[in-house]
Amino acid sequence: RTKTADISREKSAQLFEKAKQYFPGGVNSPVRAFKSVYGTPLFIERGDKAHIWDADENEFIDFCCSWGPLILGHNNDQIREAVTAQLSKGLSFGAPTALENELAELIISNNRFIEKIRFVSSGTEAVMSAIRLARGYTKRDKIVKFEGCYHGHSDSLLVKAGSGLVTFGETSSAGVPKAFADETIVIALNDKEALTAVFDQFKDQIAAVIIEGVPANNGLLLQTKEYIHYLREITTQNGALLIFDEVITGFRLGFEGAAAYYDVQPDIITYGKIIGGGMPVGAYGASKELMSCISPDGSVYQAGTLSGNPVAMAAGIATCKVLTQPDFYKNLNAKTELFVSEIRNYIEEKNYEVKIFTIASIFWFAFTDQEAILKASEIDPNSMELYKLMHRELLNRGIYFGPSGYEVGFISHAHTNEDLITAKQHIFAALDLVFG
Ligand code: PMP
Repeated sequence: RTKTADISREKSAQLFEKAKQYFPGGVNSPVRAFKSVYGTPLFIERGDKAHIWDADENEFIDFCCSWGPLILGHNNDQIREAVTAQLSKGLSFGAPTALENELAELIISNNRFIEKIRFVSSGTEAVMSAIRLARGYTKRDKIVKFEGCYHGHSDSLLVKAGSGLVTFGETSSAGVPKAFADETIVIALNDKEALTAVFDQFKDQIAAVIIEGVPANNGLLLQTKEYIHYLREITTQNGALLIFDEVITGFRLGFEGAAAYYDVQPDIITYGKIIGGGMPVGAYGASKELMSCISPDGSVYQAGTLSGNPVAMAAGIATCKVLTQPDFYKNLNAKTELFVSEIRNYIEEKNYEVKIFTIASIFWFAFTDQEAILKASEIDPNSMELYKLMHRELLNRGIYFGPSGYEVGFISHAHTNEDLITAKQHIFAALDLVFG
């Protein structure tokens, strides 16, 4: 098997050179820099349905989907029309609008797991605020997080995290005061004993345990239902809150996310990505009682100039209206299942040492012979070299995967059968090259 010729990245390379003059590493978010995959980052110019085009006019079928938000694909008619209609009315008022009520109602009336919600502008903000709420409510300081789970870049949570950090071979950030990191206890996923030990050691000190609905920032680490239920039990027994970070899984595993998938009632749930239809929106929600601790009702302060931004709310409303249509998730998940199972069949037929882990419309290629990977430490960093090879070949064949082997892929409502058949053929060829 020979490699497909490299696509032109001339314009992207020029733009990147310029960007390096302005931004650290030439980017406004680290993983975009293509540091752990081949070549210069592609500068994207436009997207339509499941396709994107870069500055050199290369076309790709997009499986990154802006890292998850674009469950309806690019340039969705309903979202575009809703956003366009709002533009002429105003971009921001810093005052309440009916749009916030409308989005909140759409969410809360279709979600059994939260009674009140607060909109913010990013996933990071949502999680940071949820942690503050947990600490304010319990009057305790310590939090427990899991190795490999990424919860945004607030200080308390940049300890042994996934996503861009693990991509660059680090898992914690400089600049986090030791006193903050000391309040964050990190344990391995899927380890009941570690969880029990932590509650023994820090009795009555733990405000909350936070977990990604399904850990998806350090590979896709599918936890067992039993473990998640244990987590619920042990937190309740110890007076600690359970926070589900559903920035990826919310509105993705189903409208009610991982809480419904596991049939677990978390105390606080954070959302992001999909909720804004591609605009910057995050949110956190909980029971009325817990949410009454938030300012101005309560003493936990949290605010935002652009929170509940009308254009972003309009995009979110348009998105949620589509998501709540009958069989939306059934169809999307069935499409993904077929795509994944056909690739799995090919892999088995060829006896290639690679697995695809999947849930709902999320998938992850793991270059491993293990049947399951449940913990961050079970991923062999050397396997990322194989991802790098596959990523380059796929780009050259017009298939866009995220520029890191630790990140998951997404399938959107906009991916047609034809897109998926085309993508599958190129994935087969890329795997032949990797293992050839
Ligand atoms: N939590 C999770 C589970 C995430 O995946 C992310 C982002 N990938 C965040 C929080 C942070 O969200 P944002 O990048 O919007 O700040």
